[in-house]
Formats: sequence, structure tokens, C-alpha cells
Amino acid sequence: MNEDSSAKKELAAVKGTKDILPGEVEKWQSLEVLARTTFELYGFRELRAPVFEATELFEKGTGATSDVVTKEMYTFTDKGGRSLTLRPEYTPSVVRAIIEHRLDLEGSPMRYYYMGPMFRYDKPQKGRYRQFHQVDIEVFGEKDAAVDAEIIEMAHALLGKLGVAGTETLVNSVGCRACRPAYSSALREAAAKRKSELCADCQRKAETNPLRIFDCKVEACREVAASFPSIQDFLCQECQDHFRALLACLDVLKIPFRVDPRLVRGLDYYTKTTFEIVSSGLGAQNALLGGGRYDDMMKDFGGPDICGTGFAMGIERVLSIAELVPPQKKTLYLAYLGDEAKKAALELARFFRSYGVECLVEYKDRGMKAHFGRANKLQAAWVLIVGENELKSGHFGLKDMATGRQVDGPREELLALLRES
Ligand SMILES: [Zn+2]
Ligand SMILES: [Zn+2]
Repeated sequence: MNEDSSAKKELAAVKGTKDILPGEVEKWQSLEVLARTTFELYGFRELRAPVFEATELFEKGTGATSDVVTKEMYTFTDKGGRSLTLRPEYTPSVVRAIIEHRLDLEGSPMRYYYMGPMFRYDKPQKGRYRQFHQVDIEVFGEKDAAVDAEIIEMAHALLGKLGVAGTETLVNSVGCRACRPAYSSALREAAAKRKSELCADCQRKAETNPLRIFDCKVEACREVAASFPSIQDFLCQECQDHFRALLACLDVLKIPFRVDPRLVRGLDYYTKTTFEIVSSGLGAQNALLGGGRYDDMMKDFGGPDICGTGFAMGIERVLSIAELVPPQKKTLYLAYLGDEAKKAALELARFFRSYGVECLVEYKDRGMKAHFGRANKLQAAWVLIVGENELKSGHFGLKDMATGRQVDGPREELLALLRES
């Protein structure tokens, strides 16, 4: 008994992971199709990078002081003694791939998208998983704020197709290497004054990277952070101009937005633009997607000096509020009687499938009544009757399960009917 229950436990999905089963997976597939077709309208192409990378890539890219790197990475040593990490986000992988393959020399637009699992050792909670899934897009080599507005507009186009309503767009600028140091020291000063009110984690951040205090979810820390100086007051001329240009482009595209000076995003690499699209239909964890500009990452990786901008959308979170109706499946169930008819059904299914009709044959000897009961349960659209008489005559019965109407005829005729409906 004990052995039995422990065996059962071992065979469960790992904490923080989730199976996506038929019945739910159709929504994922619809989202994936809509994302692909939307992004291709904007000139994006898919770039698939591996699920794991050298740990160093994320330490360098994501930032050694970010929560993701310090607390949440799935890092392991492989049999060759290398330190590898299951990717916690996608951007560093794309940047690595561009440098490795010198995609910047190809001359094609550097617009990439990707969909797939990411991994973070976060506290599992409702709607949050350790293997979670993102849709990710990146544009490289476009300094102009217009492209930031274009990808925000693209995000809205996709959310619209997914039936996500009630969203708000938050934008900010986090400055650049010229203007952020002054802001960081102002923050450090402000944080030092109220250090005792901060959580242990933020007390550490107050010294290492005070900007990260804005990421803390502890209420007391949020209150303290609300009193901190605003980055908007520290932006250099170039960053100010860039931010103004972004807002003007959002106006052109008729995208309502709110400037949120606390929006610094949880990763170290952002420069200038940061943005989030949040949903009113979700609780505290209400960001559907977030992104921004990372103009220094490629250069910091030892690659060419090429700027980047992009966003990542959480698939689980979006699907929890998306109004998606996956296309209805239309299955032809083949009901056969006897051994000869079984073989004929096998061949008939091959015939219909070759013309794109979804067929199901279950190799269990059933009576006709049981076949229809089963077809009903499976919500098959049609039943093809394959009995002894049908084999002899070469005329089969095709029953429309919704109307109850039955048509008899040779398979070519029935195929024409099936393809019409
Ligand atoms: Zn600046
Ligand atoms: Zn805190």
C-alpha cells in the first residue's frame, strides 16, 4: 500500500509544471496561429533557440543583480562539467544567436518572434508556473522610438484578435548609461534614509541595485518606493526626446497610454523605453505583456553595437482571460460490422483522409447501435456505415449526426458531400 502510494507520487508532474491536455490545447494552438499570422504581417520571422544555454549568458544578459538571476534560475552542471541554465527568458538567446550567426550582416530586417517554454524557480502560485510559456518578439537595429510604438500597436492587434478586452498601456523611460547613474545614486540616497522600513531583500538591493526595489511585491516596500524620486526628472536630453517621440507615435496610432514613472521592469538591461500592457480583469499580477528597449546588450555581449527592443507575453495569463473559440472539429466516425468490413473501413479512412476529412476508426467489434452510441459520445459530425451489404454494393450510408439525415452512395459521392459541408 505504502509502496503503491509513493510510486503514484513519483509519477505526478513536477511541482510548478502543468500538462496541457486535449480540450485545453486547442486554445493554445489558436493563440499560436494568431500570434504567427499577426507577427508575419509586421515582417517578423521565427527564430528558434535551444531551451538551455551556458549559465553565463543569462548572468551577463539578464543581469547578475536581478531577481531572476539571483533567485530563480534553473541552473545545473551537465556530465561534461559545464554550468547550464534552462532559459528564464528569451532575449539573451536571440542576441547570442544573432552574434553567433552574424545575422546583422544578412541585410534582412532583424525582426524575430518565438513561442515556447521558459523556466524560473519561482514560488508556484495561482496562474504562475516554473515552466511557463511566452510569446516573444524582438527588433534589432532600429533606434527610432517609432518602432517601440509599432510593437506596442502590434501587441494590441494580437490581444484584440485573442478577444482580450479592458487593457491599459503603461509606458516609461528608464534612461540610458549617460543619465541613469545620477538617478541610481538619488535612489540609493532615498532608500538609505528609509532602509529600516524595507524588507531584508530590498535592504540588500538598496546598496546593489536600488532600481530593483520597484519590483518588490511587499506592501511596505511599495509604499516606500512610491516616495522615491521619479526617473522622468533625471532623463538626459536624448532620452527625453526619445520618450517624447514615443508618446507622439502612440498618439498617431491612437493607442491610449499612461506614463508610469515606477515602471522599471524586473531586468537590468533595459534602456529608454519600457512598457507593459496590463489587464483590469486580473488581480495584482495583471501584466499581460511587458517589454522595452535594450540598446547595450549586443555590445555588452561582445557583438556589434546594435540596439534592440521587444516584448514578452505570458501565454498562461493571456489565455486565462482570452475569449478564444477554437474551430469546431468535424470527425467522420466509421462504423463497421465484421472482419471484412473492418479492413474496408481501414482503407476507406485512408481514402477520406487523403482528401482532408478527419476520420476515426476504433478497432473494437461493436454492434451498429453501440457504434452510434459511441459516435454520439465523441460528438462525431458524421457516421459512415460499413456493413456486409455495403461492401457488396459499394454504396455506403453516410449519416449526418446533427440532422439525422442519411445519404447512400459510392465513396466518391459521399466525399463530395463531406467536402461541401
Ligand atoms: Zn539618457
Ligand atoms: Zn522589498
